[in-house]
Amino acid sequence: MTFTPIAQPIIGQSEIEAVTRVLKSGQLASGPQVAEFEEELARYCGSRFCIAFNSGTAAIHAGLYALDIQPGDEVVTTPFTFAATANPALALGAKVIFADIDPGTYLIDPLAVNSKLTPNTKVIIPVDLYGSTYDHRALARIVRSKKVKILEDACQSIGATSYGKRAGNLGDIGTFSFYATKNMMCGEGGAAITNSSRLAEKMRRFRHHGQSLQRQYQYFDYGLNYRMLDITAAIARVQLTKLETWNKERQQNASILRDGLISVPNIILPIEAPNTHSVYHQFTVRITRNFPLSRSELIEQLKQAHIGSGIYYPMPLHLFPQFKRLGYKKGDFPNAEQACREVISLPIHPQVTQNTLTQMIDIFKKAST
Ligand SMILES: *Cc1c(COP(=O)(O)O)cnc(C)c1O
Repeated sequence: MTFTPIAQPIIGQSEIEAVTRVLKSGQLASGPQVAEFEEELARYCGSRFCIAFNSGTAAIHAGLYALDIQPGDEVVTTPFTFAATANPALALGAKVIFADIDPGTYLIDPLAVNSKLTPNTKVIIPVDLYGSTYDHRALARIVRSKKVKILEDACQSIGATSYGKRAGNLGDIGTFSFYATKNMMCGEGGAAITNSSRLAEKMRRFRHHGQSLQRQYQYFDYGLNYRMLDITAAIARVQLTKLETWNKERQQNASILRDGLISVPNIILPIEAPNTHSVYHQFTVRITRNFPLSRSELIEQLKQAHIGSGIYYPMPLHLFPQFKRLGYKKGDFPNAEQACREVISLPIHPQVTQNTLTQMIDIFKKAST
């Protein structure tokens, strides 16, 4: 019996051929593949500019740099995320301020953000967790008339929409990751999109040691080497052509799981806000106290059935030693802390079979009767 992992990259013949072509071309570093990929991704997202990077972390770092984060500036984000959301802000010397999540959507709560704004707040980083989109309308109302910018961490939500707009396009800059487990991937990679030519230019320089592409060894600006390879861009280009199909398959799998689990008491299924379409990077269920199995017992039962699962995330950022210096303590973000204790993500990617979906549903049903 084959094991169904929580995530699994899909690599077809066309990805292999695309990489082979690049290897044979001799142009392995950043070149025409990267340029084509940027154009294709911008078109897909409906944004004016796209800048590719060698990771999602690099894209966030470049985005914050372009938004002019200076030491001491405050960056507000959620503690219920991957460290890559917050670490680039620390790299720029910013003060990371956490705001709690909405317990229903797991996304940053606009009202919590509002209570954290100070004259030093420069950027808010909402995270489009699990493939959904943050509440951009509510957040836009809150930052209106303030000089606060929004960097949307859309690393888990490429292709999702809110009121017809693609994820990544909902703030001033949006970032994606093409790490091996994401909805589309190239091993390691990332991108930022924006409609501002000024921000795009700053990010383009930042990934290239502050040089402009026209004037090598002229350092106009601070920067690092965050360039994407043509080898990986070639993979990403193929994957982008399949993204819509794959995201639809994830949505179909999500709807099968939802239909099967809807009658199971004492668990909470993911909710989709009106006029939004999640791309289900994860299908995350909350196991409440009254469910007969503990979360670890459930994980064990799934494992016995050769089904992987994941906990995103086992602990909120503010409780890790790395973020202790921000001065937070247990109890500061009760919604995020409770979510960390209760969530479990079930495999939902295109390679999950109908049989495995049925098995998962049966495990929940059996446990609850
Ligand atoms: C994957 C991810 C990133 C970026 O990760 P990289 O591994 O650097 O590409 C950032 N934020 C979130 C929420 C992510 O899931």
